[in-house]
Amino acid sequence: MRPYRLTILFILLLVIPGPAGAQENIVEVPKARLSKEKKTALNFLEQASTLDRFGKIADRIWSYAELGLQEFKSAALLIETLEDEGFNVERNVAGMPTCFIATWGEGKPVIGVLGEFDALPMLSQKGRVPYQDPLVKGAPGHGCGHNMMGTAGVATVIAVKKSMEENNIKGTIKFFGSPAEETVISRPYMVRAGVFDDVDAVIDNHSSSNMGTDFGVSGNALISVIFTFSGKTSHSAGAPWEGRSALDAVEIMNISANYLREHLHYTHRLHYVIMEGGEAPNVVPDKASVWYYVRNTDERIEEMYDKIVNCARGAALATNTKLEDIRVLTGIHQRHANRGMAELIQSNIDLVGMPEWTEEENKFAKALQKELGKEEKGYPEEVSKLKIPSEIQVGGGSSDVGEVTLIAPTATLRFPGGVPGMIGHHWSAVSAYYGSSAWKGLNTGAKVMAATAIDLFTRPQVLEDIKEEFAEYSKNHPYKSLLPEGAEPPLDLNRELMEKYRPLMEEAGR
Ligand SMILES: [Zn+2]
Repeated sequence: MRPYRLTILFILLLVIPGPAGAQENIVEVPKARLSKEKKTALNFLEQASTLDRFGKIADRIWSYAELGLQEFKSAALLIETLEDEGFNVERNVAGMPTCFIATWGEGKPVIGVLGEFDALPMLSQKGRVPYQDPLVKGAPGHGCGHNMMGTAGVATVIAVKKSMEENNIKGTIKFFGSPAEETVISRPYMVRAGVFDDVDAVIDNHSSSNMGTDFGVSGNALISVIFTFSGKTSHSAGAPWEGRSALDAVEIMNISANYLREHLHYTHRLHYVIMEGGEAPNVVPDKASVWYYVRNTDERIEEMYDKIVNCARGAALATNTKLEDIRVLTGIHQRHANRGMAELIQSNIDLVGMPEWTEEENKFAKALQKELGKEEKGYPEEVSKLKIPSEIQVGGGSSDVGEVTLIAPTATLRFPGGVPGMIGHHWSAVSAYYGSSAWKGLNTGAKVMAATAIDLFTRPQVLEDIKEEFAEYSKNHPYKSLLPEGAEPPLDLNRELMEKYRPLMEEAGR
């Protein structure tokens, strides 16, 4: 039984012998119980039909498995769901066709909920099959659970809207449909477009195998950049002296960058893929390009980026080629999660508690854990405690939610549904983020987020304290975009891949 159900039961036991109108008294008891505003939202989310409705949406987005900025069907499904519930939807936000903002209500406070829905390349896998078995070999798959996250966010704002309507709550609830998180693209452009400027607080979410939240600085800032070299083509055997290989420039650039690693601070991460490197060995490639992820802390990212650019310049000089283009796709900061927001989310995590898992679900989890050589312990039953930030920054992954954390007080809820021991960005996660346990996980996440949003609407002092913490923090951490002037969202980035796989995936889904 969930903790808040226990609370309701306890209150009912207290009031049952009371006089007529005892029902009213339930609302007036100040502590250890649910407010009527939370009750409306949670009752809606608790209905079997609600679980079913949003579960099916998450599974459909899982089947679409659309890559960043190609999420046309996923975004359309979420938009349709929101419009059916009376939300006003602005499309094509910040120059991205799959970016949208859904709004309900008016005036202050304005509470935002973030949601993502993009997939990852090469991860296609059948849902809830505990061994590797692609649905369409080489096609994309939802290996990070973003199919659940956009859906959980949409379920949240709909539940909040129902409560605002029923209980006359003043303010505005917004859902920020954010494409291309896997390539950390949308948020810096959304921030540049000013879409978060009037937002008082933001609730972010990510799927996980457990449930928890944290605060403080984490992860790495990231600049994603493609270097393109041009050379001169020639017969590789007949007249190689006539040619200048652009591929040589890419290789020398990579060698320079790899030697540079030794002298970078340990917080750095650096990785690349060659995008273009010629078609045949007997034709000197006159065009080559390489895509870099340059990652470090906010303090060190720009200096590291300049050093990588120098590697590219040096490679062009050494090979008599031209560094034709430096295309920055995106630039983002570390995550700076707000403590007050995290504490509020944690209080609602403790309120809602973990979902109950069936025997069949635990059987699947254990089979997957066995296949991966992990401890066969099934799904977790306990929520996590509030995570205290580490004093030492060690670097790591990045999320463009970092941008939002510097614009408005923000924290991230990790909600359950995944299998402990599964590997992120891997077929095992694609397998786990589908079906009944994913449905329950995202529904639980929506409950926590809805309860948190309602706290922000109905407890002005809590919101005030959170905003004060943010204002104080911002004095030393003012936002400065890492996007170069004139940068535009790379709408073409995944187009070809998606055009290749979309028909095959649609065929397989039939
Ligand atoms: Zn993710």
